Amino acid sequence: DGKDVPYDPEQLRKINEHPCYSEKACHTSGRMHLPVAPKCNIQCNYCVRDFDCVNESRPGVCSTVLKPEETLELVEKALKQFPYIKVIGIAGPGEPLANEETFDTLKLLKENYPTPIKCLSTNGLLLPEKIDELEKYGVGNLTITLNAIDPAIGEKIYSFVEWEGKKLHGREAAEKLLSQQLKGIKMAIDKKMLVKINTVYIPGINDHHIVDIARKAGEMGVFTYNLIPVIPQYKFKDIVPPTLAEKKNMQDKCSPYVKQMRHCQRCRSDAIGKLGQDVQGCLYSKE
Ligand code: SF4
Ligand code: SF4
Repeated sequence: DGKDVPYDPEQLRKINEHPCYSEKACHTSGRMHLPVAPKCNIQCNYCVRDFDCVNESRPGVCSTVLKPEETLELVEKALKQFPYIKVIGIAGPGEPLANEETFDTLKLLKENYPTPIKCLSTNGLLLPEKIDELEKYGVGNLTITLNAIDPAIGEKIYSFVEWEGKKLHGREAAEKLLSQQLKGIKMAIDKKMLVKINTVYIPGINDHHIVDIARKAGEMGVFTYNLIPVIPQYKFKDIVPPTLAEKKNMQDKCSPYVKQMRHCQRCRSDAIGKLGQDVQGCLYSKE
């Protein structure tokens, strides 16, 4: 599955203790997501913004939004009660890099909890501009959702992209997003961050293009590739999502190029615990 790349000891820790990066660790390590980032700067045609960012999560309920300073108490409780939590991540409920609260939170985490792995997921639009700040705060694991490497396909997936105070549409929007994503991914890999690419599998829109995305991801030195079946809603409400067998078949076709993540649980942006065994309910309840 994928190619062998040598990793240094710190990178190996960020792989072997991260439940999404290591299938083995997913039984022993947990992660906690801090829902501090409500706004988003693009519009994906499969996203209804009443829910969590569906680039990682499944829709259901929108997670509570916390203020940066409110996260410290939650982190303290979680690490004490569930010492197997090795990763603290920011995954929404909107786009982490479009919210100043994300950086305020990362700063507080670095000062107060330097050891746990710091992880973040993004649509990539602001990645080149924000990468130095992420590095400064010790973010070692990064997920970018990359649904197309051809703007002719990208323009079918995105309604708009907000760029420097303007709303870009159509081909222009797709081109801007793609060039920022590719630039950001390269910068992250050059900084030795462990990059995971998520691709939403959208039959009839990007399905014939997914192997090309996986090949590109592998060539760039991405650590792992996570294929996510589309959830039919908003402009894509009539699209029939891929079956489990179709998803597995596509992952098998991608696996010569990049290591496949096959155990993603599509967690909420306030998830806490081991994958598929969340405990956030008891930590959020006020006693
Ligand atoms: Fe929704 Fe996430 Fe896309 Fe923003 S990036 S529109 S929150 S799926
Ligand atoms: Fe890991 Fe998938 Fe959950 Fe993200 S959504 S924390 S990749 S299992």
